[in-house]
Amino acid sequence: MKPTWVVCIKQVPREPVFKRTGDAYQIDRDRVEGILNPYDRRAIELAVNLKEKQGGEVVVLSMGPPQAEEALREALAFGVDRAVLLSDPAFAGADTLATAYTLAAGVRKLGHFSLILCGARTLDSDTAQVGPQMAEFLDLPMAAYVGKATCKERSLRVERTLDGVRERLLLPLPALITVAGQMQAERPLALSSVEEAFGKPKVQRWGRQDLEVDPGRIGWEGSATVADEYAVWKHSRSGEIIQAKPAEAADRILDILVKRNVLGG
Ligand SMILES: Cc1cc2nc3c(=O)[nH]c(=O)nc-3n(C[C@H](O)[C@H](O)[C@H](O)COP(=O)(O)OP(=O)(O)OC[C@H]3O[C@@H](n4cnc5c(N)ncnc54)[C@H](O)[C@@H]3O)c2cc1C
Repeated sequence: MKPTWVVCIKQVPREPVFKRTGDAYQIDRDRVEGILNPYDRRAIELAVNLKEKQGGEVVVLSMGPPQAEEALREALAFGVDRAVLLSDPAFAGADTLATAYTLAAGVRKLGHFSLILCGARTLDSDTAQVGPQMAEFLDLPMAAYVGKATCKERSLRVERTLDGVRERLLLPLPALITVAGQMQAERPLALSSVEEAFGKPKVQRWGRQDLEVDPGRIGWEGSATVADEYAVWKHSRSGEIIQAKPAEAADRILDILVKRNVLGG
């Protein structure tokens, strides 16, 4: 059977805007511009590289509101063969546990797969939990923060750097990896592939009825956590120009740094 490389991608807000629902805060995904999570772009690149060497097809999978289709179409332009969006009001308000549970159900519905690739983390919630949780739900071997991966028969050799230590691991397939920053260059996007991706009805949509899920484990209902408070971090910067001869300017800069405790007093 030909390999299937499944990449989970998330559309993230360029800037978070929150709305209040009952006692909890949620990201208001209807009011913000969405972009493809940058780490997921790297996961797509790795999957397309694996397909070029091993054959098969690359499928991208996302759970989100209807507008998340834009991110899937962007992925199609990077050489992905097929895209599936899990979208249903019943999936809304999911925390990482309910998200991973639903994505795992989507992968089961896809049927055969060789490798699932997730981004290492997202720009918005940034928990890095969804990949490892999916691996638990699907009972798969997993490696996080992978930089490079090559396929060898029925296993995957991966390399990652953690705390300055380079590790090489061998995973039997099927498996799940999360893809981190240190990777090969991403290919440039051809205009013709963008036109093709946005012109063809290649995105399949699956709702709650299409998946084998327990209604108590999806969306808001199935979430173990709620965000009950949020704060937007703001910081301001101001500059100061010191006009003096070099030695005097250096003394004044040193004085400022000492007063602000930057040099440890
Ligand atoms: C304590 C807590 C409470 C929260 N409460 C709420 C809430 O009340 N309402 C709310 O709307 N959100 C809430 N969220 C946000 C919500 O959990 C996340 O949007 C979602 O679960 C994905 O988590 P993440 O962005 O941290 O993914 P990460 O684990 O950082 O993502 C890693 C990778 O997993 C994959 N992935 C993640 N999400 C998806 C997806 N949707 N589709 C496909 N692939 C995906 C991607 O490959 C991604 O790169 C909460 C988060 C936390 C931590």
